[in-house]
Amino acid sequence: MLCELVRYIDDPRGLGLAHIPCARACELGFYKSAPGDQLCAKCPLHSHSESRGAQVCRCDSSYYRAAQDPPSAACTRPPSTPVNLISSVNGTSVTLEWGPPLDKGGRADIMYNVVCRHCPWDLGQCETCSNGIRFVPQQMSLVQGGLTVTNLMAHTNYSFWVEAVNGVSDLSLEPRRFAVANITTNQAAPSQVMMIRQESTGQNSVTLLWQEPDQPNGIILEYEIKYYEKDKEMQSYSTLKSKGTSATVSGLKPATRYIFQVRARTSAGCGRFSQIVEVETGKPVALRYDTMTIVWICLTLITGLVTLLVVLICKKRHCGYSKAFQDSDEEKMHYQNGQVKFPESKFYVDPHTYEDPCQAVHEFTREIEASRIKIEKIIGSGESGEVCYGRLKLPGKREIPVAIKALKAGYTEKQRRDFLSEASIMAQFDHPNVIHLEGVVTRSKLVMIVTEYMENGSLDSFLRKHDGQFNIIQLVGILRGIGAGMRYLADLGYVHRDLAARNILVNSNLVCKVSDFGLSRILEDDPDAAYTTTGGKIPIRWTAPEAITYRKFSSASDVWSYGIVMWEVLAYGERPYWNMTNRDVINSVEEGYRLPAPMGCPTALHQLMLDCWQKDRSERPRFSQIVSILDKLIRNPENLKCTATVNRFTQTPFDRGIFDFTRCGTVEDWLESIRLGRYRENFAMAGYSSLGMVMRMGIEDVRSLGIAPMGHQKKILSSIQLMRSQLLNTNGRRRDL
Ligand code: AMP
Repeated sequence: MLCELVRYIDDPRGLGLAHIPCARACELGFYKSAPGDQLCAKCPLHSHSESRGAQVCRCDSSYYRAAQDPPSAACTRPPSTPVNLISSVNGTSVTLEWGPPLDKGGRADIMYNVVCRHCPWDLGQCETCSNGIRFVPQQMSLVQGGLTVTNLMAHTNYSFWVEAVNGVSDLSLEPRRFAVANITTNQAAPSQVMMIRQESTGQNSVTLLWQEPDQPNGIILEYEIKYYEKDKEMQSYSTLKSKGTSATVSGLKPATRYIFQVRARTSAGCGRFSQIVEVETGKPVALRYDTMTIVWICLTLITGLVTLLVVLICKKRHCGYSKAFQDSDEEKMHYQNGQVKFPESKFYVDPHTYEDPCQAVHEFTREIEASRIKIEKIIGSGESGEVCYGRLKLPGKREIPVAIKALKAGYTEKQRRDFLSEASIMAQFDHPNVIHLEGVVTRSKLVMIVTEYMENGSLDSFLRKHDGQFNIIQLVGILRGIGAGMRYLADLGYVHRDLAARNILVNSNLVCKVSDFGLSRILEDDPDAAYTTTGGKIPIRWTAPEAITYRKFSSASDVWSYGIVMWEVLAYGERPYWNMTNRDVINSVEEGYRLPAPMGCPTALHQLMLDCWQKDRSERPRFSQIVSILDKLIRNPENLKCTATVNRFTQTPFDRGIFDFTRCGTVEDWLESIRLGRYRENFAMAGYSSLGMVMRMGIEDVRSLGIAPMGHQKKILSSIQLMRSQLLNTNGRRRDL
């Protein structure tokens, strides 16, 4: 058959075929998938043939053909990003919605994938979300432009990255493109009650104890105890409410198996019920007594009642907590899982009151075999020795990360005793905001204290590392945790004496725990402690005046220190009273000077700090009140909006010439004193030639100096505030500026 050379004519049916094709090779821009008589076809859209006689047209650059696409299909490309991504947060869930991409890449098989990133500290430091999160209907290959994400953590930043994909997305080497929604979750119901155990069982009653959930996410209003006869839940179940972490369920049938579950409720709703606990009530005892026995029982009962009355009257006469009270409490201790557990209301026992402190170590702590610990690296050091990270594997338990404090070599017997006394103290505590002791190693040459591992180390350095990165709810959450830990310790009668951000540890979930117990440590180890005239070493900046002057340490002096910790948290680890000397701090505090609000600190929080710094210790709030104030603020965050801003300085005592800031003469001296001497030019250029002018500076004035690091701007503003407060609090000497 003759081949007729025909030019390509636009075919109205869209086939684009040459009129009389033949065995002849196709022209450039045409292809024929197999040799033969069929017509040459024009290369599909976004493809080309590189030589005559092509069997297939290759895709243009950045265009692709999916494996299932026929050679006649146009080449396509990945879609652009989805548009109009909107998020709506509801508690700890978020709904994301978006529109289809403007450029679908020439395909109809569009689907969407969502990447979830959890940003514990700020949006610059996100990590892939953990497994517990639910995506409804699913996370990947979504057909519709929306999904709901549930089970997120409360008060946490998340970043959701949504991408549109089509059949050729996987072939493209170009970077993937996402639409991003950053959100912060709100309040959530409390987490599940985990530790629930039976305290005692009678014929008709069962007493249960449990721990506050790990994440209360607000004030726990009450606990709900659900119970029913085993295998009869479908028929009926009962509930009982309890304000605290224990309850006695009565009215039960004797010798019957019951199932119990507990859940916590906050204003945000109820948490999940705990795992079930199965308890069998006691068997009834058949009583058959003769008259003599009945008379004898009555007499015994009457004698018992009289004795009880006498004891009660005696107790009332003894104020405070007496030894008798302690003893009876100690009798109530019981042994569980190899560890001594204490009843709810108890007092802390000072190991120094033991004749032999080793006895306290044996009584309170668990001995761990050294071979069960693998030390992996050194993470810190204290006066008594090094702190290491390691792993602990106890028989029948999974391996856990731990911190190991090892007593330095060449210790004396006294140092060994003092070192271990910290463990004896810590072992008596059991609270989510107090560091947990795993045990001690005393039978090996290396004496060690093993505690839970806190991934983020001490709070002061952690805050400095993350300067300005938390929202106010997160900061209040930190304070609430520390307050709850201190409330627990104060309730036990334990006075910390060295409460400071450096002695708070932070774990990976931003949970803060009070640490550093043991009296000798305060006196000897703390680099911030200084000798006082009354003898002994005291961390002056954190300590209440009455404790500095006449060593009156109490939970009220711990409250003062807590106020300083609040200031450290809000000022992201700034040193309280900056570089004022200890002597100046003592004098200023004595004269009524108090630390000013750190920049951006809500007025409500600064007011709470000032309350903690009341001179009269009976006027200071108790830890229980502090926790409840913070809880209220968390529940009503609008009360945290009002901040103590640095306003322009107007008519003040300063203008009337009252000023007492004798340590810094010139602007340069002052800048040097806060270690920012390098900015003297900035001040000079802007015309601030005297401290008086500096004192009138407002936030905008500082910003306009051209000082780039935000931290330095903050430091300058805080120092100006300090000078002003000192001025306002001092009725002292006059000084011309
Ligand atoms: P200390 O001797 O207790 O003051 O500890 C010294 C340093 O070791 C602390 O400032 C922390 O950085 C670190 N450290 C102490 N205990 C722990 C722990 N349980 N988890 C993680 N780091 C810890």
